[in-house]
Amino acid sequence: MKYIDQVEMKGKKVFLRVDFNVPMDKEGNVTGDKRVRASIPTINYALERGAKLIIASHLGRPKGKRVAEMSLKPVAKVLSDLLKKPVTFFDDCVGEAIEKAVGIMKEGDIFLLENLRFNPGEDKNDAGFAKQLAALCDIYIDDAFAVSHRAAASNSAITEFVPVCAAGFLLKNEIEYFKKAMVNPAKPLAAIIGGAKVSDKIGLLENLIEKVDKIIIGGGMAFTFLRAAGYETGKSLCEEDMLDLARKIVEKAKQKNVQFLLPVDTVIAQTAMAEAETKVCGVKEIPKDWIGLDIGPATISLFNEGLRGVKTIVWNGPMGMFELAPFSKGTFELAQAVANSGALSIIGGGDTDTAIKKAGLSAKMSYISTGGGAFLELLEGKILPGIAALEKSRV
Ligand code: AMP
Repeated sequence: MKYIDQVEMKGKKVFLRVDFNVPMDKEGNVTGDKRVRASIPTINYALERGAKLIIASHLGRPKGKRVAEMSLKPVAKVLSDLLKKPVTFFDDCVGEAIEKAVGIMKEGDIFLLENLRFNPGEDKNDAGFAKQLAALCDIYIDDAFAVSHRAAASNSAITEFVPVCAAGFLLKNEIEYFKKAMVNPAKPLAAIIGGAKVSDKIGLLENLIEKVDKIIIGGGMAFTFLRAAGYETGKSLCEEDMLDLARKIVEKAKQKNVQFLLPVDTVIAQTAMAEAETKVCGVKEIPKDWIGLDIGPATISLFNEGLRGVKTIVWNGPMGMFELAPFSKGTFELAQAVANSGALSIIGGGDTDTAIKKAGLSAKMSYISTGGGAFLELLEGKILPGIAALEKSRV
């Protein structure tokens, strides 16, 4: 993989694929600029080195059509404010007007193109569309990790038509931290897996068992494992059709000598509501009409203990329904334990990121991935098309 700091950009037209898929309100105001900020180091680096910068992104899922609410126009203003530099917005991403403007670009100029997904060729990884994009530039830089698990014209096919292709700093960071966690990790390596369903995380669990020393399971998915072990779990989340698979996963962990930690107690309520009455009970004593919504204090201690001496931690999925205060303690306390562990901690998945932010501990983690689905697929051991395309293009 070639990286941006190995590329000579002075006076060159640089096409930068970013993830500006920002949240917006009904009036079209950008309500969060985290994703724009995440690309600033790459943008500034290119500008400082005399690039002519053409930035492109997707926003939402317009499915090949123009959808006014998914225009990137408001993002041009956000970007311009963050950079304190003018940004020229184009209401398309290919075509004569852009080609002309690109032809007379000067070093340090910044263009932002309209939503790539307005063009039907983007999602189809269409070579024709990719060629049109490629014709705008001399160098292609990919910094959109969050879409690397989908092959699109702007992150996959385009690499066949641009002579120099490289990863930006955001993508570089994602790849390097992933390698530190999963390719050559400092051992012992622990995975904390939570969230709602086992079915969403089968691939992940199966791949992790091959690599980690410990797996810590929390969240709704823990109840499927507990039921598979023969416990009654009341009205807690449980995927009946996953019970066999849950048993197989536990069996495989045993064979591989991977420590597999499940909750021993849980915070229960009769409804999943903030004002509901709550109790703590052992996982073998969940009453019939009650729901397990967080890990209990004995489990927090058990998991804390489990993290002692661990050198690397990968975490995906909350330990409970953390969005509601009475069921947030397990996730927040585990976040504190991860922060205190001194281990290299790599966090991924939108909910986990939100929970850690709510706990006020984001700065204490070694790395928080910017890609939910892409991060999960990396952990599942999949080859991501966006990354594979860059690797292939290396000359
Ligand atoms: P995921 O997207 O699979 O990581 O799941 C995250 C969601 O799982 C969050 O919205 C949590 O509220 C939910 N969750 C975590 N623990 C539980 C639980 N014990 N019961 C129901 N939902 C849960």
